[in-house]
Amino acid sequence: MIVLEGGHVATVDDAGTEYPVGHVVIDGSALVAVGPGPAPDGLRDGAEWVDTTGCLVTPGLVNTHHHLYQWLTRGYATDSTLFDWLTELYPVWARLDADAVHAGASANLGWLALSGCSTSTDHHYVFPQPNLLDATIEAAREIGVRFHPCRGSMDLGSSAGGLPPDEVTEDREAILIATEAAIDRWHDPSPAAMTRIAVAPCSPFSVTAELMREAAELARSKGVRLHTHLAETADEDEFCQQTYGQTPAEYLAELDWLGPDVWLAHCVHLSDSAIASLAGTGTAVAHCPTSNGRLGAGSARVRDLIDAGVPVGLGVDGAASNEAGRLVDELRSAMVVARLRGGPQALTAREVLRLATGGGARCLGREAELGSLEPGKLADVAVWRLDELGQAGGVDPVFCWAFSSSAPLRLLLVNGRAVVAESILLTADSGRLAREAAAAGARLVGR
Ligand code: ZN
Repeated sequence: MIVLEGGHVATVDDAGTEYPVGHVVIDGSALVAVGPGPAPDGLRDGAEWVDTTGCLVTPGLVNTHHHLYQWLTRGYATDSTLFDWLTELYPVWARLDADAVHAGASANLGWLALSGCSTSTDHHYVFPQPNLLDATIEAAREIGVRFHPCRGSMDLGSSAGGLPPDEVTEDREAILIATEAAIDRWHDPSPAAMTRIAVAPCSPFSVTAELMREAAELARSKGVRLHTHLAETADEDEFCQQTYGQTPAEYLAELDWLGPDVWLAHCVHLSDSAIASLAGTGTAVAHCPTSNGRLGAGSARVRDLIDAGVPVGLGVDGAASNEAGRLVDELRSAMVVARLRGGPQALTAREVLRLATGGGARCLGREAELGSLEPGKLADVAVWRLDELGQAGGVDPVFCWAFSSSAPLRLLLVNGRAVVAESILLTADSGRLAREAAAAGARLVGR
């Protein structure tokens, strides 16, 4: 039993309940009590007691879009559009092997945990070797974060009109076999699952319509979720108009790729009718504001998505388009981007906290187990220091935390296990992760 007591508890339950002085009690992997004031006496006896006075207690943050291998390829194509950036990076990614992916994923997940991320996706879509998904899952098990790897894929090479060079694409049949094998080996449907697989062909300009359709059939026959990139840039919109005679959203609807089991990365360039069709089908969106800014892709219509009832989560996106790689930063970026678009009420701190927790859980189909601090939910909890130099003296703890994005992480529990304490990663040696990532990055450059 662990008792967190004395901090400002933002539960992110349906009513948005907050306790300015509250408690959270954890038994094993589950939350057993959340409320105002001190924890009930019967729950404190023999428990590990943590004084969270001066801290903000939130659900662990959920990262809904990422490419962990990109940790090794930061700083490339620094001033390029998405298509030019991809064109420069595809040949680098073609040299990835399992050691490189493991080193990049381990460092990246350690860094994500230090930014309050208790659950992360990964969208891995470059397979010059077959065992790269396994390397990311082994990394996540070492770091201790909850992990939703998405078996990505590309089968539309440049010789057939796609953007990627043929050398980084795979054969469609091989993709489907490998994806099914990954589900059979790793997917855990149980409520407390630490690993769940999703099916994730990469994008309209790197995947055939046939693969999109067959991937959706496979995912639905296996009861796993679907993920892809959509409507990220104006270039993609133009590609879809020229290739398919449709907008990206119309193309996806025709492929039977909208529904409550689908979440889509970016969705920057959406018409009113596209937003309505996402809302009507329960399709969720992974909003990645820093990456969109880095690539000059545009700013997603987050206020309109929320108002239409589209479930929205936050994503860091791969570090090659977001060198910061910190999930808590995305709350600040999302507020800045939304307010630049729509004024100071366009996205509140409580709303952005909900996107980063409950919204993310909904993207991953985990809303019954994750995303809020309520008895019966899984014990994924972040405790943030608001009593140190950068934060002390602020008035509204949730707003100051979200907008500063720099509060030290006092504690991160994942499934009831401490992964971070006092801004130190407990599950792996940060120095070793850094050295291994540096060596793997150097090997990749040298190849
Ligand atoms: Zn992406």
